[in-house]
Amino acid sequence: MNSRRSSDNLILDTALRDFYDAADYMHLDERLVAILSNSERRIDVSVPVEMEDGSAVVFKGYRVQHSTALGPSKGGIRYAMDVSGDECEGLAMLMTWKCSLGGIPYGGGKGGITCDPTKLSLKEKERMTRTYGSRISPIVGRWSDIPAPDMYTGGQEMVWIMDTICKMRGHFEPAILTGKPTDYWGAMGRTEATGRGVATCALEIMKRKNLDPSKMKIAVDGFGNVGSYTALLLKEAGAKIVAISDTSGAYYNPNGLNIEKAFEYINTNPKQKGRKLQGFEKEGCEKVSEADLLSCDCDFLAPCAVQGVINKDSAAKVKAKYIVEGANSPTTPEGEKILDDAGVIVVPDFLANAGGVIGSYFEWAQNLQGFPWTEEEYNTRLVNLMKNNFGRVWDFAEAKKVNMRRSAYVNAIKRVADVVDMRGIYL
Ligand code: GLU
Repeated sequence: MNSRRSSDNLILDTALRDFYDAADYMHLDERLVAILSNSERRIDVSVPVEMEDGSAVVFKGYRVQHSTALGPSKGGIRYAMDVSGDECEGLAMLMTWKCSLGGIPYGGGKGGITCDPTKLSLKEKERMTRTYGSRISPIVGRWSDIPAPDMYTGGQEMVWIMDTICKMRGHFEPAILTGKPTDYWGAMGRTEATGRGVATCALEIMKRKNLDPSKMKIAVDGFGNVGSYTALLLKEAGAKIVAISDTSGAYYNPNGLNIEKAFEYINTNPKQKGRKLQGFEKEGCEKVSEADLLSCDCDFLAPCAVQGVINKDSAAKVKAKYIVEGANSPTTPEGEKILDDAGVIVVPDFLANAGGVIGSYFEWAQNLQGFPWTEEEYNTRLVNLMKNNFGRVWDFAEAKKVNMRRSAYVNAIKRVADVVDMRGIYL
Protein backbone atom coordinates (compact mmCIF):
# COMPACT_ATOMS: atom_id res chain seq x y z
CA MET A 1 0.00 0.00 0.00
CA ASN A 2 1.33 3.46 -0.86
CA SER A 3 1.76 5.71 2.14
CA ARG A 4 1.03 9.37 1.52
CA ARG A 5 3.98 11.53 0.71
CA SER A 6 5.00 14.52 2.80
CA SER A 7 7.89 16.97 2.56
CA ASP A 8 9.90 19.27 4.78
CA ASN A 9 9.78 21.88 2.02
CA LEU A 10 6.96 24.32 2.84
CA ILE A 11 5.75 24.76 -0.74
CA LEU A 12 5.75 21.05 -1.61
CA ASP A 13 4.21 20.12 1.72
CA THR A 14 1.42 22.71 1.32
CA ALA A 15 0.77 21.57 -2.26
CA LEU A 16 0.55 17.95 -1.10
CA ARG A 17 -1.71 18.76 1.85
CA ASP A 18 -4.09 20.85 -0.29
CA PHE A 19 -4.19 18.02 -2.84
CA TYR A 20 -4.90 15.34 -0.20
CA ASP A 21 -7.64 17.46 1.41
CA ALA A 22 -9.39 17.91 -1.93
CA ALA A 23 -8.81 14.26 -2.90
CA ASP A 24 -10.42 13.11 0.36
CA TYR A 25 -13.35 15.49 -0.14
CA MET A 26 -13.98 14.10 -3.65
CA HIS A 27 -13.24 10.47 -2.65
CA LEU A 28 -10.53 10.20 -5.29
CA ASP A 29 -9.36 6.66 -6.00
CA GLU A 30 -6.18 5.99 -3.95
CA ARG A 31 -4.33 4.85 -7.09
CA LEU A 32 -4.87 8.27 -8.61
CA VAL A 33 -3.88 9.94 -5.35
CA ALA A 34 -0.60 8.00 -5.41
CA ILE A 35 0.09 8.81 -9.06
CA LEU A 36 -0.74 12.51 -8.82
CA SER A 37 1.18 13.12 -5.59
CA ASN A 38 4.42 12.28 -7.44
CA SER A 39 6.15 14.09 -10.28
CA GLU A 40 6.49 12.20 -13.55
CA ARG A 41 10.03 13.42 -14.03
CA ARG A 42 12.54 15.59 -12.19
CA ILE A 43 16.04 16.39 -13.34
CA ASP A 44 18.77 18.01 -11.27
CA VAL A 45 21.56 19.67 -13.23
CA SER A 46 24.79 21.33 -12.25
CA VAL A 47 25.39 24.71 -13.87
CA PRO A 48 29.07 25.70 -13.91
CA VAL A 49 29.60 29.39 -14.60
CA GLU A 50 32.80 31.26 -15.27
CA MET A 51 32.56 34.39 -13.11
CA GLU A 52 33.91 37.85 -13.95
CA ASP A 53 36.92 37.32 -11.62
CA GLY A 54 37.90 34.12 -13.46
CA SER A 55 36.65 31.76 -10.73
CA ALA A 56 34.08 29.04 -11.47
CA VAL A 57 30.88 28.68 -9.46
CA VAL A 58 28.70 25.61 -9.85
CA PHE A 59 25.01 26.47 -9.38
CA LYS A 60 22.27 23.89 -8.90
CA GLY A 61 19.40 23.81 -11.38
CA TYR A 62 16.19 21.81 -11.69
CA ARG A 63 13.38 21.05 -14.07
CA VAL A 64 10.30 19.14 -12.96
CA GLN A 65 7.43 17.72 -14.99
CA HIS A 66 4.69 16.96 -12.51
CA SER A 67 2.14 15.75 -15.04
CA THR A 68 1.83 15.43 -18.80
CA ALA A 69 -1.60 13.81 -18.64
CA LEU A 70 -3.40 16.70 -20.36
CA GLY A 71 -0.57 17.71 -22.67
CA PRO A 72 3.02 18.97 -22.57
CA SER A 73 4.13 20.20 -19.15
CA LYS A 74 4.09 23.98 -18.80
CA GLY A 75 5.58 26.29 -16.23
CA GLY A 76 8.13 28.93 -15.46
CA ILE A 77 11.78 29.04 -14.51
CA ARG A 78 12.69 30.98 -11.37
CA TYR A 79 15.96 32.28 -10.01
CA ALA A 80 16.11 32.59 -6.20
CA MET A 81 18.13 31.40 -3.24
CA ASP A 82 15.34 29.18 -1.90
CA VAL A 83 14.82 27.30 -5.18
CA SER A 84 15.20 23.55 -4.66
CA GLY A 85 14.09 20.39 -6.39
CA ASP A 86 11.32 19.91 -3.82
CA GLU A 87 10.11 23.49 -4.21
CA CYS A 88 9.98 23.00 -8.00
CA GLU A 89 7.97 19.80 -7.46
CA GLY A 90 5.41 21.68 -5.35
CA LEU A 91 5.18 24.54 -7.85
CA ALA A 92 4.95 22.13 -10.80
CA MET A 93 2.02 20.40 -9.11
CA LEU A 94 0.29 23.78 -8.75
CA MET A 95 0.86 24.38 -12.46
CA THR A 96 -0.91 21.10 -13.23
CA TRP A 97 -4.00 22.34 -11.38
CA LYS A 98 -3.68 25.85 -12.87
CA CYS A 99 -3.57 24.57 -16.45
CA SER A 100 -6.32 22.06 -15.84
CA LEU A 101 -8.64 24.63 -14.27
CA GLY A 102 -7.62 27.19 -16.90
CA GLY A 103 -9.08 24.96 -19.61
CA ILE A 104 -5.82 24.76 -21.57
CA PRO A 105 -4.20 21.58 -22.95
CA TYR A 106 -1.15 21.42 -20.71
CA GLY A 107 0.24 19.54 -17.75
CA GLY A 108 2.33 21.20 -15.06
CA GLY A 109 6.05 21.86 -14.86
CA LYS A 110 8.50 24.19 -13.12
CA GLY A 111 12.21 24.78 -13.01
CA GLY A 112 14.79 27.04 -11.53
CA ILE A 113 18.30 27.73 -10.39
CA THR A 114 19.37 28.25 -6.78
CA CYS A 115 21.08 31.63 -7.02
CA ASP A 116 20.84 35.27 -6.07
CA PRO A 117 20.21 36.87 -9.49
CA THR A 118 20.75 40.38 -8.12
CA LYS A 119 24.40 39.53 -7.40
CA LEU A 120 25.22 38.36 -10.93
CA SER A 121 26.54 40.54 -13.74
CA LEU A 122 24.64 40.44 -17.03
CA LYS A 123 27.33 38.24 -18.62
CA GLU A 124 27.36 35.83 -15.64
CA LYS A 125 23.59 35.59 -15.84
CA GLU A 126 23.76 34.91 -19.57
CA ARG A 127 26.35 32.14 -19.15
CA MET A 128 24.36 30.59 -16.30
CA THR A 129 21.09 30.74 -18.25
CA ARG A 130 22.56 29.27 -21.43
CA THR A 131 24.29 26.41 -19.58
CA TYR A 132 21.11 25.65 -17.65
CA GLY A 133 19.15 25.73 -20.94
CA SER A 134 21.53 23.29 -22.60
CA ARG A 135 21.36 20.90 -19.64
CA ILE A 136 17.57 20.77 -19.48
CA SER A 137 17.23 20.70 -23.27
CA PRO A 138 16.81 16.89 -23.53
CA ILE A 139 13.38 17.23 -21.89
CA VAL A 140 12.31 20.59 -23.38
CA GLY A 141 10.16 20.66 -26.52
CA ARG A 142 7.00 22.13 -27.98
CA TRP A 143 5.19 18.81 -27.45
CA SER A 144 6.97 17.76 -24.24
CA ASP A 145 7.85 20.59 -21.83
CA ILE A 146 7.48 24.33 -22.46
CA PRO A 147 9.24 26.70 -20.02
CA ALA A 148 8.33 30.36 -19.41
CA PRO A 149 9.47 33.20 -17.13
CA ASP A 150 8.81 33.18 -13.39
CA MET A 151 10.38 35.04 -10.46
CA TYR A 152 13.47 37.01 -11.59
CA THR A 153 13.39 35.78 -15.17
CA GLY A 154 11.84 37.43 -18.21
CA GLY A 155 12.05 37.85 -21.96
CA GLN A 156 15.86 38.11 -22.03
CA GLU A 157 16.35 34.78 -20.23
CA MET A 158 13.83 33.12 -22.56
CA VAL A 159 15.73 34.40 -25.62
CA TRP A 160 19.04 33.05 -24.24
CA ILE A 161 17.55 29.61 -23.56
CA MET A 162 15.74 29.47 -26.90
CA ASP A 163 18.79 30.60 -28.84
CA THR A 164 20.99 28.01 -27.09
CA ILE A 165 18.61 25.11 -27.69
CA CYS A 166 17.88 26.12 -31.30
CA LYS A 167 21.62 26.25 -32.03
CA MET A 168 22.14 22.86 -30.39
CA ARG A 169 19.33 21.37 -32.49
CA GLY A 170 20.33 23.14 -35.67
CA HIS A 171 16.89 24.48 -36.42
CA PHE A 172 14.56 27.26 -35.33
CA GLU A 173 11.79 26.39 -32.87
CA PRO A 174 10.00 29.35 -31.26
CA ALA A 175 7.27 27.23 -29.59
CA ILE A 176 9.66 25.50 -27.15
CA LEU A 177 9.10 28.26 -24.61
CA THR A 178 6.85 31.26 -24.01
CA GLY A 179 7.14 34.73 -22.52
CA LYS A 180 9.37 35.84 -25.35
CA PRO A 181 9.61 39.57 -26.20
CA THR A 182 6.84 40.77 -28.52
CA ASP A 183 9.35 41.66 -31.23
CA TYR A 184 10.73 38.16 -31.18
CA TRP A 185 7.92 35.61 -31.47
CA GLY A 186 6.22 36.80 -28.28
CA ALA A 187 2.52 37.69 -28.18
CA MET A 188 0.92 41.09 -27.95
CA GLY A 189 -1.11 41.21 -24.74
CA ARG A 190 1.14 38.81 -22.76
CA THR A 191 2.59 41.58 -20.52
CA GLU A 192 -0.84 42.60 -19.21
CA ALA A 193 -2.31 39.07 -19.30
CA THR A 194 -1.98 38.08 -15.64
CA GLY A 195 -3.29 41.44 -14.37
CA ARG A 196 -6.12 41.31 -16.91
CA GLY A 197 -7.12 37.91 -15.52
CA VAL A 198 -7.04 39.16 -11.91
CA ALA A 199 -9.11 42.23 -12.83
CA THR A 200 -11.59 40.02 -14.71
CA CYS A 201 -12.16 37.91 -11.58
CA ALA A 202 -12.85 41.03 -9.49
CA LEU A 203 -15.31 42.34 -12.09
CA GLU A 204 -17.06 38.95 -12.25
CA ILE A 205 -17.65 39.07 -8.49
CA MET A 206 -19.11 42.56 -8.82
CA LYS A 207 -21.45 41.31 -11.53
CA ARG A 208 -22.66 38.40 -9.43
CA LYS A 209 -23.04 40.48 -6.27
CA ASN A 210 -24.67 43.41 -8.07
CA LEU A 211 -21.90 45.77 -7.04
CA ASP A 212 -21.34 48.94 -9.04
CA PRO A 213 -17.62 49.10 -10.02
CA SER A 214 -17.63 52.89 -9.65
CA LYS A 215 -18.52 52.50 -5.96
CA MET A 216 -15.77 49.96 -5.26
CA LYS A 217 -12.58 50.73 -3.33
CA ILE A 218 -9.66 48.50 -4.18
CA ALA A 219 -6.26 47.96 -2.52
CA VAL A 220 -3.50 46.32 -4.54
CA ASP A 221 -0.47 44.95 -2.68
CA GLY A 222 2.53 44.83 -5.03
CA PHE A 223 2.89 47.05 -8.10
CA GLY A 224 4.96 44.74 -10.27
CA ASN A 225 3.79 43.20 -13.53
CA VAL A 226 0.66 41.63 -12.00
CA GLY A 227 -0.42 44.33 -9.53
CA SER A 228 0.18 47.30 -11.80
CA TYR A 229 -2.06 46.04 -14.60
CA THR A 230 -4.65 44.77 -12.13
CA ALA A 231 -4.87 48.30 -10.70
CA LEU A 232 -4.90 50.01 -14.10
CA LEU A 233 -7.58 47.77 -15.60
CA LEU A 234 -9.83 48.02 -12.55
CA LYS A 235 -9.44 51.78 -12.57
CA GLU A 236 -10.37 51.81 -16.25
CA ALA A 237 -13.48 49.81 -15.28
CA GLY A 238 -14.46 52.68 -12.98
CA ALA A 239 -13.19 51.49 -9.57
CA LYS A 240 -11.23 53.60 -7.11
CA ILE A 241 -7.74 52.27 -6.36
CA VAL A 242 -7.14 53.45 -2.80
CA ALA A 243 -3.78 51.78 -2.11
CA ILE A 244 -0.78 50.35 -3.96
CA SER A 245 2.67 49.26 -2.76
CA ASP A 246 6.14 48.05 -3.57
CA THR A 247 9.20 47.44 -1.40
CA SER A 248 9.61 51.22 -0.94
CA GLY A 249 6.33 51.28 1.01
CA ALA A 250 2.57 51.52 0.53
CA TYR A 251 0.70 54.57 -0.76
CA TYR A 252 -2.84 55.37 0.32
CA ASN A 253 -5.54 57.83 -0.64
CA PRO A 254 -9.15 57.03 0.33
CA ASN A 255 -10.34 59.14 -2.61
CA GLY A 256 -8.34 57.16 -5.16
CA LEU A 257 -4.79 57.20 -6.51
CA ASN A 258 -3.55 58.39 -9.87
CA ILE A 259 -2.54 55.03 -11.37
CA GLU A 260 -1.34 56.50 -14.66
CA LYS A 261 1.09 58.62 -12.63
CA ALA A 262 2.25 55.50 -10.77
CA PHE A 263 3.05 53.94 -14.18
CA GLU A 264 5.16 56.99 -14.98
CA TYR A 265 7.12 56.32 -11.78
CA ILE A 266 7.79 52.70 -12.59
CA ASN A 267 8.77 53.54 -16.14
CA THR A 268 11.15 56.30 -15.13
CA ASN A 269 12.69 54.37 -12.22
CA PRO A 270 13.65 51.10 -13.95
CA LYS A 271 16.93 50.78 -12.06
CA GLN A 272 15.28 50.95 -8.63
CA LYS A 273 14.55 47.21 -8.45
CA GLY A 274 11.32 46.68 -6.49
CA ARG A 275 11.36 50.28 -5.19
CA LYS A 276 10.06 52.04 -8.23
CA LEU A 277 7.28 53.91 -6.40
CA GLN A 278 9.87 55.61 -4.18
CA GLY A 279 8.66 59.21 -3.59
CA PHE A 280 5.09 58.57 -4.82
CA GLU A 281 3.70 60.20 -1.64
CA LYS A 282 4.49 63.51 -3.37
CA GLU A 283 1.56 62.79 -5.72
CA GLY A 284 -1.12 63.58 -3.16
CA CYS A 285 -1.22 60.44 -1.06
CA GLU A 286 -0.05 59.18 2.29
CA LYS A 287 2.87 56.78 2.71
CA VAL A 288 1.83 53.90 4.97
CA SER A 289 3.09 50.41 5.82
CA GLU A 290 2.20 47.20 3.97
CA ALA A 291 0.29 46.11 7.10
CA ASP A 292 -1.78 49.33 6.84
CA LEU A 293 -2.55 48.54 3.19
CA LEU A 294 -3.72 45.02 4.02
CA SER A 295 -6.05 46.35 6.74
CA CYS A 296 -7.24 49.53 4.97
CA ASP A 297 -10.87 50.39 4.37
CA CYS A 298 -11.66 48.80 0.99
CA ASP A 299 -14.05 46.37 -0.69
CA PHE A 300 -11.52 44.35 -2.66
CA LEU A 301 -7.96 43.41 -1.76
CA ALA A 302 -5.63 42.05 -4.46
CA PRO A 303 -2.42 40.64 -2.94
CA CYS A 304 -0.09 40.62 -5.95
CA ALA A 305 3.31 40.65 -4.25
CA VAL A 306 4.76 37.74 -2.31
CA GLN A 307 3.53 34.60 -0.59
CA GLY A 308 2.15 34.44 2.94
CA VAL A 309 1.15 38.11 3.51
CA ILE A 310 -2.35 37.22 4.66
CA ASN A 311 -1.59 35.05 7.65
CA LYS A 312 -2.71 34.36 11.21
CA ASP A 313 -1.58 37.84 12.27
CA SER A 314 -2.88 39.97 9.39
CA ALA A 315 -6.05 38.11 8.32
CA ALA A 316 -8.23 39.25 11.24
CA LYS A 317 -7.51 42.90 10.38
CA VAL A 318 -8.57 42.63 6.73
CA LYS A 319 -11.62 44.83 6.07
CA ALA A 320 -12.11 43.81 2.42
CA LYS A 321 -15.04 41.49 1.72
CA TYR A 322 -13.35 40.03 -1.34
CA ILE A 323 -9.77 38.93 -1.96
CA VAL A 324 -8.44 38.15 -5.43
CA GLU A 325 -5.05 36.45 -5.24
CA GLY A 326 -2.72 37.78 -7.93
CA ALA A 327 0.43 36.37 -6.28
CA ASN A 328 1.07 32.68 -5.74
CA SER A 329 0.09 31.55 -2.20
CA PRO A 330 -0.43 35.00 -0.61
CA THR A 331 -2.82 33.50 1.96
CA THR A 332 -1.64 30.91 4.48
CA PRO A 333 -4.04 28.11 5.56
CA GLU A 334 -4.34 29.77 9.02
CA GLY A 335 -5.14 33.12 7.36
CA GLU A 336 -7.73 31.50 5.11
CA LYS A 337 -9.50 29.91 8.08
CA ILE A 338 -9.89 33.35 9.71
CA LEU A 339 -11.18 34.83 6.42
CA ASP A 340 -13.60 31.93 5.93
CA ASP A 341 -15.03 32.41 9.42
CA ALA A 342 -15.46 36.12 8.71
CA GLY A 343 -17.31 35.38 5.44
CA VAL A 344 -14.63 36.88 3.20
CA ILE A 345 -14.64 35.43 -0.33
CA VAL A 346 -11.17 34.48 -1.60
CA VAL A 347 -10.55 33.85 -5.31
CA PRO A 348 -7.59 31.43 -5.15
CA ASP A 349 -4.29 32.08 -6.90
CA PHE A 350 -4.41 29.28 -9.44
CA LEU A 351 -7.77 30.57 -10.69
CA ALA A 352 -7.11 34.32 -10.40
CA ASN A 353 -3.55 34.48 -11.78
CA ALA A 354 -3.98 31.90 -14.54
CA GLY A 355 -4.09 34.70 -17.13
CA GLY A 356 -0.30 34.40 -17.42
CA VAL A 357 -0.22 30.78 -18.46
CA ILE A 358 -3.38 31.11 -20.55
CA GLY A 359 -1.57 33.93 -22.37
CA SER A 360 1.41 31.60 -22.77
CA TYR A 361 -0.88 29.08 -24.41
CA PHE A 362 -1.98 31.74 -26.91
CA GLU A 363 1.66 32.57 -27.65
CA TRP A 364 2.49 28.90 -28.22
CA ALA A 365 -0.56 28.49 -30.49
CA GLN A 366 0.53 31.52 -32.56
CA ASN A 367 4.10 30.15 -32.78
CA LEU A 368 2.83 26.77 -34.00
CA GLN A 369 0.67 28.52 -36.58
CA GLY A 370 3.52 30.85 -37.51
CA PHE A 371 0.90 33.56 -37.59
CA PRO A 372 0.41 36.36 -35.03
CA TRP A 373 -3.00 37.31 -33.66
CA THR A 374 -4.10 40.87 -33.05
CA GLU A 375 -3.91 42.15 -29.49
CA GLU A 376 -7.68 42.50 -29.50
CA GLU A 377 -8.17 38.84 -30.38
CA TYR A 378 -5.74 37.82 -27.66
CA ASN A 379 -7.48 39.93 -25.00
CA THR A 380 -10.98 38.84 -26.00
CA ARG A 381 -10.08 35.15 -25.85
CA LEU A 382 -8.30 35.64 -22.53
CA VAL A 383 -11.19 37.43 -20.86
CA ASN A 384 -13.69 34.86 -22.18
CA LEU A 385 -11.66 31.94 -20.82
CA MET A 386 -11.17 33.67 -17.46
CA LYS A 387 -14.91 34.36 -17.20
CA ASN A 388 -15.76 30.73 -17.98
CA ASN A 389 -13.27 29.40 -15.47
CA PHE A 390 -14.43 31.81 -12.80
CA GLY A 391 -18.08 30.89 -13.45
CA ARG A 392 -17.39 27.18 -13.15
CA VAL A 393 -15.65 27.60 -9.80
CA TRP A 394 -18.21 30.08 -8.46
CA ASP A 395 -21.22 27.92 -9.40
CA PHE A 396 -19.72 24.76 -7.92
CA ALA A 397 -18.83 26.61 -4.69
CA GLU A 398 -22.40 27.91 -4.39
CA ALA A 399 -23.98 24.56 -5.18
CA LYS A 400 -21.78 22.56 -2.80
CA LYS A 401 -21.46 25.24 -0.12
CA VAL A 402 -17.67 25.14 -0.18
CA ASN A 403 -15.19 27.97 -0.50
CA MET A 404 -13.69 29.00 -3.84
CA ARG A 405 -10.35 27.29 -3.16
CA ARG A 406 -11.95 23.92 -2.47
CA SER A 407 -14.14 24.34 -5.53
CA ALA A 408 -11.14 25.25 -7.71
CA TYR A 409 -9.14 22.26 -6.47
CA VAL A 410 -11.94 19.79 -7.04
CA ASN A 411 -12.60 21.07 -10.56
CA ALA A 412 -8.91 21.10 -11.46
CA ILE A 413 -8.11 17.66 -10.03
CA LYS A 414 -11.18 16.07 -11.59
CA ARG A 415 -10.15 16.93 -15.16
CA VAL A 416 -6.63 15.54 -14.66
CA ALA A 417 -7.79 12.46 -12.74
CA ASP A 418 -10.38 11.60 -15.40
CA VAL A 419 -7.76 11.76 -18.14
CA VAL A 420 -5.21 9.73 -16.17
CA ASP A 421 -7.92 7.18 -15.58
CA MET A 422 -8.91 7.12 -19.27
CA ARG A 423 -5.34 6.84 -20.49
CA GLY A 424 -4.58 4.10 -17.96
CA ILE A 425 -1.33 3.11 -16.28
CA TYR A 426 1.19 2.19 -18.96
CA LEU A 427 3.67 -0.64 -18.28
N1 GLU B 1 5.22 31.64 -14.24
C1 GLU B 1 3.83 31.81 -14.58
C2 GLU B 1 2.96 31.01 -13.64
O1 GLU B 1 3.41 30.56 -12.61
C3 GLU B 1 3.58 31.49 -16.05
C4 GLU B 1 3.92 30.11 -16.45
C5 GLU B 1 3.79 29.86 -17.94
O2 GLU B 1 3.38 30.75 -18.65
O3 GLU B 1 4.13 28.75 -18.37
O4 GLU B 1 1.78 30.86 -13.85
